[in-house]
Amino acid sequence: MGRLVVVSNRIADPRKTASGGLAVALGQALESSGGLWFGWSGKVVEDGTPGEGDLHVHQAGKVQLATVDLSREDHDSYYLGYSNGVLWPVFHYRLDLADFDAGYIGGYRRVNQMFAHKLASLLQPDDVIWVHDYHLIPLAAELRAMGCKQRMGFFLHIPLPPPLILAAVPAHDWLMRCLFAYDLVGFQSESDVAHFSRYVGTETSADILGEHEFRAYGKTLQVQAFPIGIDVDEFVELGKGRESQDMFNQMRTEYSRRRLLLGVERLDYSKGLPQRLKAFRQLLQDYPENLGSATLIQIAAPSRESVDAYAALKQELESLCGAINGDHGELDWMPVRYIHRSVARKRLPGLYRAASVALVTPLRDGMNLVAKEFIVAQDPDDPGVLVLSRFAGAAEQMKDALLVNPYDTSGTAQTMQRAMQMPLEERQRRHQALMAGIREHDVHWWRERFLNALAAIPAP
Ligand code: ADP
Repeated sequence: MGRLVVVSNRIADPRKTASGGLAVALGQALESSGGLWFGWSGKVVEDGTPGEGDLHVHQAGKVQLATVDLSREDHDSYYLGYSNGVLWPVFHYRLDLADFDAGYIGGYRRVNQMFAHKLASLLQPDDVIWVHDYHLIPLAAELRAMGCKQRMGFFLHIPLPPPLILAAVPAHDWLMRCLFAYDLVGFQSESDVAHFSRYVGTETSADILGEHEFRAYGKTLQVQAFPIGIDVDEFVELGKGRESQDMFNQMRTEYSRRRLLLGVERLDYSKGLPQRLKAFRQLLQDYPENLGSATLIQIAAPSRESVDAYAALKQELESLCGAINGDHGELDWMPVRYIHRSVARKRLPGLYRAASVALVTPLRDGMNLVAKEFIVAQDPDDPGVLVLSRFAGAAEQMKDALLVNPYDTSGTAQTMQRAMQMPLEERQRRHQALMAGIREHDVHWWRERFLNALAAIPAP
């Protein structure tokens, strides 16, 4: 196989720990092929011309990093508008939160065209191109229009909704047609693949050649589920580090008389945070033995704050936390600790390990890596329990977690109680089974499976 070219909205220097497991895994593949990573620089040029942006190329070890700046107008329509104001909510089944402003799609298309232009100038004929996520669905179509013949794969990190939800996007047929410019499309879960297949069956005249093969617009497309994993060894090493140990000791000392429940995410409406807080309040009401003891630490890192729906969610959470603490708190015990900040990655394993129960209860999530990180961070002799939404992509793989319907407040409260009372032997058995799955299907397995499937497709 030729050089690997990874394209994603944001890129990361794979040599930096703060970049996380995905960057490390992609970085390793890029290093071994002497590859190129291409994306937005993160810079917004206030008075820049739409559709134009400076290209910056620099070398990080054996990997070439190429980034492009965005004008304010492109950033607002492509990134905030179409990607995060239309595709993100709709793909997470939240049509009610989508802002179908007709101006956004022009910016989305314009930036994808510009990226294709800039990228094409850096490509070699035998490169293999791997495009990531919803910001860049039309990239291959734009590259093909310019005559690029390289093998191209696309991986969607977020869910694909059922056909009738997708069909509410005014340009859904164009978006889905764009996917056919790739040779391979990967989704997180089997349910996403099923949605794709049903969409193709009902909304297009494509031929379904097999469970994973479709033909339309003169092009054959392979589609498969590639559930993403984490870099287990990297996370275990982080857990052994001083920052993580300090965090663990600090939490254990501070909360020695309490039982800790933990939620860690970006503040996003897909994560089911209000529903989780209501379930926690129900837990305190239905099982009063938890009063004075159960403490929910909810970390919700700021995210996309200039999109309206996020500001409304922030207010709702603050008000719920205030009400729960006001109604149930004591002078020496606050039921909820809500922290609107991120936690340094090096400290995360210690925080996970100090918790008796992790609450990973999204309303819809492509995969959810926090669920996997929590399990890896546990002490196998005395592990915490994972309460996981059945609507997270991870639920297809993590059947030994306690699965909940996050919309069911009393059911979730009941499961939280079960998690806190779970006997040691059952905790160990569930942890062992979950750990084996996470180890087997780690981020390296995911990357290899995707790249091998792409390499197996005959060059166009
Ligand atoms: P998403 O990609 O939607 O944010 P995931 O659970 O799949 O959700 O991945 C989130 C990643 O970001 C994980 O690696 C997690 O450790 C990290 N992360 C999420 N929230 C926080 C936070 N509040 N502080 C630090 N890291 C976080």
